[in-house]
Amino acid sequence: MTAQILVVDDVLANVKLLEAKLASEYYDVITAKDGFEAISKAKEHRPDLILLDVMMPGMDGFETCAKIKADVELSHIPIVMVTALSEKSDRLKGLDAGADDFITKPINDVALFARVKSLVRIKMLLDELRLRDKTSIEMGIKSEVGQTMITDVSGARVLLVDDDTVQGKQIVARLSESYNVEWVEEPDQAVAKACIGNFDVILISTLLSNADGLRLASQIKSNEAMRNVPLLVFVDEDDPRIMLKALEMGINDYMTVPVDKNEMLVRVRTQIRRKKYQETLKSQYQMSMSMAITDALTGLYNRHYLNTHLGNMVKQALKNGKYMALMIMDMDHFKSVNDTYGHDVGDMILKQLATLIIQQSRSSELAARFGGEEFVVLMPETDPQSALMAANRMRDVVQLTPFKINDKGDTIQKTISIGIASLHPDGDSAESLLKRADEALYEAKRAGRNRVTVNSVLAPKGW
Ligand SMILES: [Mg+2]
Repeated sequence: MTAQILVVDDVLANVKLLEAKLASEYYDVITAKDGFEAISKAKEHRPDLILLDVMMPGMDGFETCAKIKADVELSHIPIVMVTALSEKSDRLKGLDAGADDFITKPINDVALFARVKSLVRIKMLLDELRLRDKTSIEMGIKSEVGQTMITDVSGARVLLVDDDTVQGKQIVARLSESYNVEWVEEPDQAVAKACIGNFDVILISTLLSNADGLRLASQIKSNEAMRNVPLLVFVDEDDPRIMLKALEMGINDYMTVPVDKNEMLVRVRTQIRRKKYQETLKSQYQMSMSMAITDALTGLYNRHYLNTHLGNMVKQALKNGKYMALMIMDMDHFKSVNDTYGHDVGDMILKQLATLIIQQSRSSELAARFGGEEFVVLMPETDPQSALMAANRMRDVVQLTPFKINDKGDTIQKTISIGIASLHPDGDSAESLLKRADEALYEAKRAGRNRVTVNSVLAPKGW
């Protein structure tokens, strides 16, 4: 994962120091000496992260941060404010300006890399979301940008594992302002609680009196159901060994005790946002997958999917020596619907027909829109007689169903013609099966429509 980081500081020595640290971890570094240069470099390079010094002449870090966050093209780039340790109020001011995180000078390497990694990960997820959003727009699908810019994470579920009663109370009070917090004081209940709680982030103290917090964290991490739940641990400032171990284990972030409550709010928010982005990404992926295989009008599978699936189904049936049948149906005189009532009504009719097809199909069968007013149903493990019965039932149902043509309750009658073909055990293929069903459909049309025709060529015994 190569990420580009923009380092902004008015003191050249600071820039050089950060540049060297980041380069040693293989980050690609660009630099700016003040706020103005930072904004122009951000526009030019679109970095993955900005490390922004607070105290700078001309335009300070807060103003620079606010300007970048106000720019639609740049607002998604994470900004880490670099503040002096003593200036706690700076942190809040930075957050007000829209900063995503902060680190304090003198810069601790572990802290720097933990935060940089975490934010770069979020940025990459966000880039992916933005890219998919772009594709969706190009495909004519409604933009999801409104949903991708997750800034409000209130109501998220937080679990705290801490046996320090005083600290626990304070943390719970503070987090409860924004989140649903559960607090476990008995470490041996922590893993069970974590498993069932559907949490968005879990905070664990490594200073428990009777348990190993890191071990708990590792047990939670290794549970499949909780792999994506971010973990944040509290560690002793004087024990850098634990910090390193925690980060090596894949803990997402850490804080030193006594826990600074404002800092905790930022870190918790960052972790929740990352989890939410991942979830959005996953659900968008599933949605785009389903869009790629679904017919937009009817919700049935599309022709592309049908072709792929038919090939697999035929192979499987031949391999296992099973029956398989295919029906292809076409609405009779559909053109007259479009000509008489318009295409909107035509679409309404097709949707109703698709609903009937789904209702009449078994769950093992696959229904697809083949094109225009043509539909195909693949019927695995279906012998020729059963296929014929199913086709006749389908034809009856369509004939008996009044099709709505408006909201006033006006209806028209429609019929369908169906061609069916059965898979032959010797040398048959998806293409020839489909072709034979199509020929049967043509026969049904020629013979006067509203009927089912069987393609008898290559039909198995008993047909
Ligand atoms: Mg400075």
